[in-house]
Amino acid sequence: MRTARDAVAAVVDPEIRVVTIEDLGILRGVAADPATGRITVTITPTYSGCPAMDVIRADIRAALAAAGHPDAEVRTVFAPAWSTDWISAAGRAKLAEAGIAPPGPATRTGPVPLTLGVRCPRCGSVDTEQLSRFGSTACKALWRCRTCRDPFDQVKPL
Ligand SMILES: [Zn+2]
Repeated sequence: MRTARDAVAAVVDPEIRVVTIEDLGILRGVAADPATGRITVTITPTYSGCPAMDVIRADIRAALAAAGHPDAEVRTVFAPAWSTDWISAAGRAKLAEAGIAPPGPATRTGPVPLTLGVRCPRCGSVDTEQLSRFGSTACKALWRCRTCRDPFDQVKPL
């Protein structure tokens, strides 16, 4: 039987199905009550009001039930607030492999925000331009590579 933590960590993001909630840093903890076996999962939502969170909660419960843990509770914690900086190196690699540019650093320092070119996930060129602040979902922006001329999504830094 898979452990409760493995089952939860394998739940994929409903909007970006190539990465898991663990890759995204949404999963904060999985604890089992030794007396009752009840599982408590703690998650932090990504972009506020992201409708995906309801799906994620349901998927976590389904994954736990399938792994033999039907008695589970999903808790949501809002502090500290989620940031795209929490996306793991493995998660960033999976995004790039799927043709989605990973977000740059969310922390902006100095009076003028530094505009970094987003690297094309297909050819690696930094000669790219933003076409729209919103890509296939609100969490992503639409970019185009001037080198290979292909559009691609970027997970917006937050
Ligand atoms: Zn390119």
